[in-house]
Amino acid sequence: MCSILGSLSRKALLGTIPLRCTILAQRLASSATPDECSQPAEFYDIIIAGGGMVGTTLACSLGKNLRLADRRILVLEAASGFKQPSMDTYSNRVSAISKGTHRLMKTVGAWPQIEATRVKPVLKMQVWDACSDALITFNYDDMAENIAWIVENDVLLASVYRQLEQVKNVEIRYSSKIEGCKLIRDGVDMSTVQLSNGDRLKCELLVGADGYNSLVRRSMGVDNFTLAYNQMGVVATLKLAEGISNNVTAWQRFLPTGPIALLPLSDDLSSMVWSTSVSEAKRLLQLDGISFVAAVNEAFNKRYPRNNLLDDIMKNVHSLVSSTTGQRLESAPVVEAVIEKSRAAFPLGLGHTSTYAGQGVCLIGDAAHRVHPLAGQGVNLGFGDVQCLTDILAESNYAGLGVNNLAQLLKYERQRLKHNVPVLLTTHGLQRLYTTDFPPLVGLRSVGLTITNALPPVKKFLMNYAMS
Ligand SMILES: Cc1cc2nc3c(=O)[nH]c(=O)nc-3n(C[C@H](O)[C@H](O)[C@H](O)COP(=O)(O)OP(=O)(O)OC[C@H]3O[C@@H](n4cnc5c(N)ncnc54)[C@H](O)[C@@H]3O)c2cc1C
Repeated sequence: MCSILGSLSRKALLGTIPLRCTILAQRLASSATPDECSQPAEFYDIIIAGGGMVGTTLACSLGKNLRLADRRILVLEAASGFKQPSMDTYSNRVSAISKGTHRLMKTVGAWPQIEATRVKPVLKMQVWDACSDALITFNYDDMAENIAWIVENDVLLASVYRQLEQVKNVEIRYSSKIEGCKLIRDGVDMSTVQLSNGDRLKCELLVGADGYNSLVRRSMGVDNFTLAYNQMGVVATLKLAEGISNNVTAWQRFLPTGPIALLPLSDDLSSMVWSTSVSEAKRLLQLDGISFVAAVNEAFNKRYPRNNLLDDIMKNVHSLVSSTTGQRLESAPVVEAVIEKSRAAFPLGLGHTSTYAGQGVCLIGDAAHRVHPLAGQGVNLGFGDVQCLTDILAESNYAGLGVNNLAQLLKYERQRLKHNVPVLLTTHGLQRLYTTDFPPLVGLRSVGLTITNALPPVKKFLMNYAMS
């Protein structure tokens, strides 16, 4: 059926057949066999399970693509709605977004509203090791270009949603928890979802954007590698002491217990992500404001015990490369206060599914891959999936192959695996390499970091890859 619909849809787009193929599809799909159900299921061409940042952006990106204009798309989200950004308070959930995400936000038309609401460009990044003098800095020449943007998740979601409201072929249903999925592998003719309110819906393509506990992924019966880091990411909004003239640097210090990062939000506010052991995270959440601020300032400045031999080696490495870099460690800004009620903690883990696509189904975002936030890559990988899936489905639909062609879905899988797996492995490797103060490993990582810092082409390559 899909190829018939695909070719019809192409002709309809070209204006030769004044027919909406989705109407035909709906009729065909609604004639469910009696053993499947007692009442016919509603039909959509594409159903997106999960209306988080990634699922909502996919809906907008597909809906705005002219080559998919004949397709009816539905987003099902369990929550009753999304949080509107507060004009007075910054949210404690923020993302460092890459150039690729910036481009996608422009393509779906959300960027002007993000900019009009709140966003802070990052022009420089300093990453350093608490157990040695190793550091690396990233910035484009003369800070002429942004290396990332810090956006509150609520601001991004609200801006994409505003665009979605204007897209006629996309519908979003809140308070719609999916309770079960049946896929073609289970013997049904089309992907079918069952909502907790009893409604049944069918589609040609079911996209799982339902986060790291994805029900769609579990219904696919695919292997999913998971690893709990036994760490939590403590987040908070922090007020910086006066004297910062230009808050445009992202700071990250690797402590033996995990990294602490400070991301600029405004001239005098920054967002913190402190990855640490579960017990330490709980302690940090319990501290009164003054003690918490003292703990944060200590984390950025405390001198940890050093190994003398390692210090000597690093002095030599530094003297060898200092003429190339001429860089010195800069101090992170002093934190003055924590914004009330902005502290929270989230469990951190690694996850990767063996398969992103199957007959009539595919996965995007955290449903397919979950990474440690130390490299700020999680949602950026998800947005990369969105761009890739949009391109492939649009091309496939235009070519008359429809939106559930397995070969096309596997092409999506291949392209994304090629990008996502190296990022996952690197992030995991860094997490492991830095959560130790074992001198040989500290030595290895410190020499590596210092030499990388002295090689501008390598740094530029890393920066472009991570932020593309
Ligand atoms: C502390 C921390 C800091 C981070 N910082 C960064 C950063 O700087 N940069 C970055 O790129 N990434 C960052 N990340 C990662 C990023 O937050 C995630 O990758 C991103 O939120 C995943 O988005 P998603 O839409 O794929 O999944 P989710 O945000 O999990 O959304 C899934 C949606 O599906 C819905 N859902 C689930 N099950 C069902 C169901 N059965 N029926 C209907 N709906 C359902 C949920 O309600 C939810 O809305 C960070 C993560 C953490 C924990």
